[in-house]
Amino acid sequence: MEQRIRFGPAGNSDSFYAQGHTSTAEAPAWLHARGLDAFEYSFGHGVRLGEATAAAIRAQAEAQDVQLSVHMPYFINLAVQEDEKKAANIRYFVESLQAARQLGAKRAVFHPGSAAKGDRGEILRRACAFLREILAALDGMGLNDTTLCAETMGKINQLGSLEEVIALCNVDARVWPALDFGHLHCRGLGAIQTKRDYADILDELERGVGLERARTLHVHFSRIEFTKGGEKMHHTFADVQYGPEFYPLGELLAERGYAPVLICESKGTMAEDAAAMRQMYEEALRHTK
Ligand SMILES: [Zn+2]
Repeated sequence: MEQRIRFGPAGNSDSFYAQGHTSTAEAPAWLHARGLDAFEYSFGHGVRLGEATAAAIRAQAEAQDVQLSVHMPYFINLAVQEDEKKAANIRYFVESLQAARQLGAKRAVFHPGSAAKGDRGEILRRACAFLREILAALDGMGLNDTTLCAETMGKINQLGSLEEVIALCNVDARVWPALDFGHLHCRGLGAIQTKRDYADILDELERGVGLERARTLHVHFSRIEFTKGGEKMHHTFADVQYGPEFYPLGELLAERGYAPVLICESKGTMAEDAAAMRQMYEEALRHTK
């Protein structure tokens, strides 16, 4: 299926609940009514999703043309060395992908892990080797219908610079890049200020993983506050004192004909801000033509 550009939130906005909704199965229609067509379901704190709920969400998402992705547990760490910890990590992937399959989710995003201890190059090599093992284990179980997306991370001591995400994508042609631009901004201590800064990132991505994966990348976006260690906290689009700005990225996506899935991770207003992103992108598209 041809991928087209899609916008949606990570989880449900505060307003979704304030309006009396209680179940994520109600989210697809709510999103569709707001011009949104993607939704990221979080397994950040563990994979807990009943089969009946998954089936209900899936049916609604398909009916409303909302493409689902999942966020795998935050405690995934590809840098671990002990057999027990590796087995636990493989289990997180297996559980996530089983649930993703029940949801009909196309993509599953993961955080690469910790780089706090030891030599950074050695940690990356270990993570790449372990990712290869994980893919083999998933293949062995026939769990290969969901695209794994390696995410750029906001703290400097986390594995997940752009370069490291490119290296993880190069482990296997089926691994996709998830660029969290807020995170890249934070780990670069305010690195994204201009359209050129975004263009440099996209150029490096295209060189690193090829045009197909670059143009259909997975995107996380929000304004984020940082300290000297990187990411501190997510904010909303109304918190304009924090970067980065979306519009220049929207322009580049329009100019380059990219078709990513863009997930907004604003604090509490993720659906509203995802709709604002779509508006900015469409405005940029009009200027491009
Ligand atoms: Zn994430």
